[in-house]
Amino acid sequence: MGAYFRPEKNKTRKHKTIRHALIAGLGFFILAWGGVELTREAGRTASIWPATAFALAFLLRAPRKEWPAILTAIFGGSVMAYVAHNDSLSRTIFVSFINLPEVLLGAHVLRRYTKEKFDLSDHKHLLAFAAVSLLLPIPFSLLAAAYFTVFMNLSYGDVAISWYMANALGIIIFTPLFFIIGWDQLKSFTRPDLRKKSFIVLTGLVVSLSLVFMQNSYPLLFVVFPIMALTAFWLGTPGAVIALAITTVMSIICAMSGIGPISLVDGSMGEKTFVLQGFLATTALISLPIASALTYRTRLEKSLKEAKESADKANLAKSVFLTSMSHELRTPLNAILGFSQLLLLNQGQNLTEKNKEHLEHVMTGGEHLLKLVSDVLDLAKVEAGKVSINPVVVSCDEVFEEVAEMLGTTAAKHNITIHVEAPMHLYVMADRARLTQVMVNLLSNAVKYNTDGGKVFISAKAVDTGVRIEVLDTGKGIPCAKHDQIFQPFNRLGAERSEIEGSGIGLAISKQLTEAMKGYMGFESEEGKGSIFYIELPQAEAQEPVINLKPEISSHVKSKSRILYIEDNFANAELMRSIVGQFLKVELFVASAGHEGLQQAKDFAPDIIISDIHLSDMTGYEVLATLKADPETAHIPVFALTADATFPQNEHAKGFDRVITKPFQLKDLVDHIGSVLQAA
Ligand code: ADP
Repeated sequence: MGAYFRPEKNKTRKHKTIRHALIAGLGFFILAWGGVELTREAGRTASIWPATAFALAFLLRAPRKEWPAILTAIFGGSVMAYVAHNDSLSRTIFVSFINLPEVLLGAHVLRRYTKEKFDLSDHKHLLAFAAVSLLLPIPFSLLAAAYFTVFMNLSYGDVAISWYMANALGIIIFTPLFFIIGWDQLKSFTRPDLRKKSFIVLTGLVVSLSLVFMQNSYPLLFVVFPIMALTAFWLGTPGAVIALAITTVMSIICAMSGIGPISLVDGSMGEKTFVLQGFLATTALISLPIASALTYRTRLEKSLKEAKESADKANLAKSVFLTSMSHELRTPLNAILGFSQLLLLNQGQNLTEKNKEHLEHVMTGGEHLLKLVSDVLDLAKVEAGKVSINPVVVSCDEVFEEVAEMLGTTAAKHNITIHVEAPMHLYVMADRARLTQVMVNLLSNAVKYNTDGGKVFISAKAVDTGVRIEVLDTGKGIPCAKHDQIFQPFNRLGAERSEIEGSGIGLAISKQLTEAMKGYMGFESEEGKGSIFYIELPQAEAQEPVINLKPEISSHVKSKSRILYIEDNFANAELMRSIVGQFLKVELFVASAGHEGLQQAKDFAPDIIISDIHLSDMTGYEVLATLKADPETAHIPVFALTADATFPQNEHAKGFDRVITKPFQLKDLVDHIGSVLQAA
């Protein structure tokens, strides 16, 4: 509990010390005077002595620098209390003195053991507190008993026991109360989430205490325990100490008035007191540990929640950063890859063999960069759970054929043969594009980390849990010691020191994508012999038509068609001009800003409008909204052409007729435009 008085360094410090000392002295005076007064009838044998507990709690809360002043004030308060009761000077001085070393020692030991951070909701601190409460009063009770035996002729044993019991019980029950209680604590019970619970337990406590103590027929003391436990459970340490204090005060008042179950004890006043003390001690020993454990857990949960929230925030920031970074990189890449493709297509006319080779290097570098950007973005999306999976029936044969073809050239360069061994008509439920992505990754690893002249086998078979797809290679293999690191992002297991290109995130993404498709990924590998990477996916029962993903270049478009392209990046606008000029042979209007585009849409009545999303004067969404709101342009299909790779999954994408992501494949773009223009 953060119940300490805050340390201050300015002038008000002195005033604070004086104020604290006065409160301590006055509090001790009231409790000591009240304690003696209440027990006057019973031969001044208190069943519980809260004054020492008050002094101990005060020292535990106060800065050590204030201790001398507080102890002096407590001594003063004690002297005044006994003087008020007309006690002899020697007795007054003795009883007042004996309290000081007791509380000083107790506070010092607890503060030291807990490194000056005494906290009742920490179970170790609570144990230390219980030990101090039980052991500390022993020497002082013996000392007090000696004084009363010598000077007042009382029985040594009786005084020692009653002094000890009252003191120990007082410390156990009241120190937590005085240590914890403050205005903030009381206010916390009226918090909206606690208000109802506070009301229930408080009412329950009062009802059960009345039931137990307002009658003389049955010894119902046990009724109190469940409600105490519930209070501790719901309201933690502050609630438990308050309930404990209420129970203590009520049971003592009733016992002194001769009502309640204590009066049923058939014995002397001493025996009755003993039973009462036993009851109170048990109640404290039940509720305080429960409360401590609960408060500790609540605090742990809160700090975990806070940690999760800040991690989520950081993750979001990371996603935003990666998305914008990817956008910034994709825009220039679009121009690099697009123009390279165009030049290569035209190479028959002007390019020398050397030029062609250089251009191929530009393409390879660009494509590598694009893959890296896509991988990093993919990882961010997968980690943020933002990948949308669209499960369909996918033919293993088709995917295998496709990926084997994709990597055939690279494999051939290293004399690696790829064998496909899938039984016909084996189907899985998977996202087609994501499954291809995973397979490309596994196959490219099997090729990359293979030896010259090695072999790769791709196979699929039906197993109990679905379909098991395996990619086996006869390559380097992975040493056993590194097996547990294989799916860690950015961990290349030492491959970073080799010539082999990679980023170390392919497997991490593949594993998470497989799991997102309700599958499982695993591997077996032996150093020097090779590896088998496998995925298991749910089997699909029926064969369904699988969409042919290979687009055809369109050539049957009406030549009078018009396209309006709204794009503020000059290079990308030029690229579009070249593509349209070469493949579509239709009229193209280019607007370099949103407003200009809107005007041209009205002036030229194009058949398609293609708009970038991040324009200088407005966004692509605003362009779309304005076009759709105007009856003159509402019917025109609008394509979004964006470098934001998360866009197709974005809800804003809904309003557009098509979404094309930069960098695009020429065939894709031509296909999209061609299909609309043919239909028009
Ligand atoms: P990358 O290949 O880009 O480094 P991956 O995440 O695909 O990243 O693979 C992580 C690491 O696992 C690789 O760097 C490589 O050391 C090891 N690895 C993956 N597949 C194989 C394989 N088939 N044979 C040997 N090592 C492999």
